[in-house]
Amino acid sequence: MLSKPLDLDEALNSILQHVRAPNTKELASLDRAHHRVTAAPVCAPTDLPPFRASAMDGYAYLWSANLDSLKLIGVSLAGHPFTDAVDNGQCVRIMTGAALPAATDTVVIQEDCTVRDNQIIVATPPAEGANVRSVGHDVKQNQVILHKGKTITAFDVGTLAGCGIAEVEVFARPRIGVFSTGDELQVPGSALAYGNIFDSNRYTVVELLADLPVEVDNLGVLPDDTAAISHALLAASARCDVLLTSGGVSVGDADHVKDTLEAIGTLDFWRLNLKPGKPLAFGEIGDCLFFGLPGNPVSTIVTLLMIAKPAIAQLCGTTPTPPLTFRCELRDTIIHRAGREEYQRGVVSNDHPHPTVNTTGDQSSNRMSSFTHANCLIRIPKDCDDLLRGSTVDVLPLYGLA
Ligand code: AMP
Ligand code: MG
Repeated sequence: MLSKPLDLDEALNSILQHVRAPNTKELASLDRAHHRVTAAPVCAPTDLPPFRASAMDGYAYLWSANLDSLKLIGVSLAGHPFTDAVDNGQCVRIMTGAALPAATDTVVIQEDCTVRDNQIIVATPPAEGANVRSVGHDVKQNQVILHKGKTITAFDVGTLAGCGIAEVEVFARPRIGVFSTGDELQVPGSALAYGNIFDSNRYTVVELLADLPVEVDNLGVLPDDTAAISHALLAASARCDVLLTSGGVSVGDADHVKDTLEAIGTLDFWRLNLKPGKPLAFGEIGDCLFFGLPGNPVSTIVTLLMIAKPAIAQLCGTTPTPPLTFRCELRDTIIHRAGREEYQRGVVSNDHPHPTVNTTGDQSSNRMSSFTHANCLIRIPKDCDDLLRGSTVDVLPLYGLA
């Protein structure tokens, strides 16, 4: 067990080495594929478009034909191709998405023509091949459209559907057990006893896992009691691939999670050089990965987003990449003492001439309200002192993280 506090990137790298690659695969139908991870490359079974198609409403003809006298001989609509022969000097009325008749190669848009007695007069001749989508112009047959380990987005679902693929091979979903810990915690909706608070972490954690292809077991609240924690974690570790708890990982008299983990499994480390999120216990119980997240709600969220979620994403079959970050002008002064990386909640605004960022005020780690209007995290590097108003900071949009 490492007793030295780890920097965020050290902790994440160390955890990712413990995360095994998924090996169970299954088929997901298209309506169940969103957010799943491909277990094999997906190839296009056909060209898209599968036939030469018009990109505009107009008239299809052979470009080399004599444009003085184009005779209109039929109509090609989407889903109703014109299949008769088109001779040189003839043309076919054609709509967007309709198949180009054989022996035509160009579409003149209707705005560039006049029609008189079944004759088309082209006012502005288009270039050869204009307004025609060639076969495979979007996707070529046998082309890899989704590589292995890709999280399937809504766009990918559309691409799969467009290729006529009804089901896709994906990795099975790991099972994630979520507990809160603490004698003070009550379920929302109950009458609050003096000295108690409502459990919020379990609700946030479950929702923050919703975009991952995981099965979540919401396992309730554990008391601050070593035997009860030990019994519950052992039982859950036999069913789950990952256990997430919050609270009880610090050095208080009622903090039993870390010691329990040491007794029933392996504690790899339990301190981070991070604000918020200093205590975070990571280890294993048998084959089950264990994350003891800190109890303060803001710390729970930041460590879940920055450490546990990337690790779970890897367990799902993806290769985690560093979060999207951009540079932004700071509109507040942030007081910071060098030595620990920090993430504050912020609001990026579309100011001119460039976006700016404000903090959401008091950044105490119990203040869930610091997330209410936040749309980003502001990274304050470890070796940095106070950041003055007007300086440039790294900003991580919460969209994509949360
Ligand atoms: P702990 O590390 O268990 O001492 O928790 C640190 C702080 O977070 C305490 O103020 C706890 O009451 C609070 N806390 C712990 N778990 C939760 C939870 N599930 N929801 C809301 N607050 C919590
Ligand atoms: Mg506690």
